[in-house]
Amino acid sequence: MSFQAPKGTFDWTPPRSERVLAIREALAAPARRAGYGYIETPVFEDTALFARGVGESTDIVSKEMYTFTDKGGRSLTLRPEGTASVVRAVLQHGLHNGQLPVKLWYSGSQFRYERAQKGRYRHFWQVGAEALGSEDPALDAELIMLAADGYAGLGLTGVRLLINTLGCKECRPGYRAALQEFLRALDLDEPTRARIEINPLRVLDDKRPEVQAQLAGAPMVVDHLCGACKTYHEEVRSLLTASGVAFADDPRLVRGLDYYTRTTFEFVHDGLGSQSAVGGGGRYDGLSEMIGGPSLPSVGWALGVDRTLLAMEAEGLLADEAAGERVQVYGVPLGEEARRRMFLLVTELRRAGLVADMSFGGKGLKGAMKGADRSGARYALVLGERDLAARAVQLKDLTTAEQTEVPLTEVVDILKGKFS
Ligand code: ATP
Ligand code: MG
Repeated sequence: MSFQAPKGTFDWTPPRSERVLAIREALAAPARRAGYGYIETPVFEDTALFARGVGESTDIVSKEMYTFTDKGGRSLTLRPEGTASVVRAVLQHGLHNGQLPVKLWYSGSQFRYERAQKGRYRHFWQVGAEALGSEDPALDAELIMLAADGYAGLGLTGVRLLINTLGCKECRPGYRAALQEFLRALDLDEPTRARIEINPLRVLDDKRPEVQAQLAGAPMVVDHLCGACKTYHEEVRSLLTASGVAFADDPRLVRGLDYYTRTTFEFVHDGLGSQSAVGGGGRYDGLSEMIGGPSLPSVGWALGVDRTLLAMEAEGLLADEAAGERVQVYGVPLGEEARRRMFLLVTELRRAGLVADMSFGGKGLKGAMKGADRSGARYALVLGERDLAARAVQLKDLTTAEQTEVPLTEVVDILKGKFS
């Protein structure tokens, strides 16, 4: 009997897995340089946190959650996103009682029961950043810029930024009513009609062509913004322009989660087919209150690690597959005694900071040298019985095939010198 990873999930194996590590680091690096601290939250939370925080009417809560009852009878859910957990943790630990904004970043896996396809998985990875407790357009601009810098840091050039504003609790109700009136007159199926009453903005996000075709004349948020929201949005836009971040206004951009207000944005890549969003985020001024906290106006984003990798592939940035710690030195011991000595030598090399590996399983010279070649090492160390007797080792440069005999007591220093 053999097992397969569950549908919609997959394994990261070398050398691709090394890319994933590098992508997570590169996406988080700009945020870390901007004073965002690392937070790690549990992979599961009380189901009610997501139901309230993400919103009952969203696809995530209504269809996509991995919910289970634990042995103590609690309803728990594998996290489908990171923001609700971060806000929960901030409130629980009173982080918002100190200096504001609280700036945090995270990296980890998310779980959504979705229709599995390329770029859409049931277990996927995000890097996220959140700034909680400040209402300041500079903070919205900062986060957007940090994400843009993250993609740029990976060498991506095809990531486009779309921005919009969703208004606030002053102007959103007026817009919502106007949108509902428009939508009720359309020819839509029952579930969509129900959605008009619960969360009409989400209907704008419907991907079906027959729905999109009817939305051409839909009222737009921009035409219903209050003065404060207009000024705020203008400021975000001009800060982005001033700092050289290219963007396009997308008056139809809405996002799947209930908690978004004002600034909303998405990063898309045209090389990904229909799963084009590589990341997104926005302001969520009401979320803290929705989960029982004080008013904590906040802004954040989540970037999809898997789709970022696909985008890099689409741009041909993954050609050089051996991205991880490349083996520098490879030990080839011939015989029992040599194997013991080589084990110590390789340990010494590693402790000296070199990346070293050796042949295992008692291979002969030919098999072990094949291993040395496959490892990508620059040098092989061949240790036979005669070498042991001479307290020496054969240092072979694998690019030139040149071989020199060096004393065992000096080989670590010699190799250190070659790689410094
Ligand atoms: P989409 O519109 O593609 O469903 P979303 O609006 O649900 O995306 P968010 O919840 O904002 O996405 O998550 C942020 C990012 O996480 C997305 O831009 C995407 O890159 C990534 N992402 C979301 N869902 C998945 C998934 N099922 N598989 C892989 N990546 C995902
Ligand atoms: Mg989605």
